[in-house]
Amino acid sequence: MTSESNDENVELVPRSDEIVTMYFREAAEVIGLADSMYEVLETSYRETDVQVPVHCDNGGLRVFRGYRVQHNGARGPYKGGIRYHPAVDISEVRALASLMTWKTALLNLPFGGAKGGVNVDPSELSLRELEALTRRFTQTIGHVLGPYRDIPAPDMNTNSQVMAWLMDAYSARFGYTPSIVTGKPLSMGGAPGREQATGRGVVDVTQRAFERVGRSLDGVRVAIQGFGNVGSWAAREFAARGARIVAVSDVGGGIYNADGIDIDAALAANAVTGSVVGLTEADQLAPGALLVCRCDVLVPAALGEVLNRHNAEDIKAEWIIEAANNPTTPIADKIFNNRGITVVPDVLANGGGVTGSYFEWTQNIQQFTWEEEDFNTRLGKRMRTATDETFDAAAKYGVTPRVAAFAIAIERVATAAKLRGYV
Ligand code: GLU
Repeated sequence: MTSESNDENVELVPRSDEIVTMYFREAAEVIGLADSMYEVLETSYRETDVQVPVHCDNGGLRVFRGYRVQHNGARGPYKGGIRYHPAVDISEVRALASLMTWKTALLNLPFGGAKGGVNVDPSELSLRELEALTRRFTQTIGHVLGPYRDIPAPDMNTNSQVMAWLMDAYSARFGYTPSIVTGKPLSMGGAPGREQATGRGVVDVTQRAFERVGRSLDGVRVAIQGFGNVGSWAAREFAARGARIVAVSDVGGGIYNADGIDIDAALAANAVTGSVVGLTEADQLAPGALLVCRCDVLVPAALGEVLNRHNAEDIKAEWIIEAANNPTTPIADKIFNNRGITVVPDVLANGGGVTGSYFEWTQNIQQFTWEEEDFNTRLGKRMRTATDETFDAAAKYGVTPRVAAFAIAIERVATAAKLRGYV
């Protein structure tokens, strides 16, 4: 997916995987990565690209494309979500798989990185069609999955029900295997706390980054783009820790209230109409206006590449917390750096999701369950440690938190790859 297009005077628009490679190279240079490591760490280990035919309720047949990209497994089994979105293509999945490698390494989890996706708009499918699609996709890629090989999870437009179908389809072929997938329903091996973990982690990271500069979240004005799993839980958690949510948006539109939005009311409006725009106690925002609204902290929690050269100069926030994957293009990243806006990168900011997945997986393989409080305490500790490591490395190298986060992760993966004899 790309958005910096339609202007002959600017350089060619990089593809999603090229963007991640640009970020990778910037950090690799900072740590003086050996030349021999580049190719292994920049390219995927395996890219599976399959046909996913679905018999529709109307008797017709639709054929989708499904992908599972395993980027690097030096530090453990491949790990990463599966997204259902019409814009999914190999470039995007490749980029997101690579980001998972850096994310799991930064969070110091015993995993590699992978990502999957199907180029489908799930809102066009009935529940039965969605189940058929998930089962067919799982059957087709089943041979590259496994609890010690590759463990999927939810991502954009997939949820615990989709993970339940995936686990059932995998188990039907390979035997009962709850640890094959994370983000499962609680009644079938899901972990209390996992559903909230990405949003909670976003707030843990923000709070820690603020603490480091002597600030608290009290009264801080937060704008959140996206009110799905990540955005809605982040909103609840920010509000619970004293911040003021001044704007939220979803596919239906956005709302703004300088005095603060009542998150419970926004959730209720969303439950009734399918969108937050049903909320009356707020002003309506035009499309794109949320990103440039008046706030202290901007949290993109939806699609990739939404912060780009078209809007980077107009952003008013002092902090950008990347709850979405790959929301900032390199041109926008440079503009933010020049303008003194601190960007907390995706591999750190949204790492609570895969950290929660690690906790779920580890409970599954040990057949021992934790209390939610224990889950949240351990999550908070890991998120704070990764935040400290990132900002300490940024100070040490004199680079942005993104370059620092990549630098830490690349060093960890390169060390493992070398010890395993990949290079
Ligand atoms: N899809 C989430 C992410 O992008 C979670 C991945 C996982 O838990 O494996 O980080």
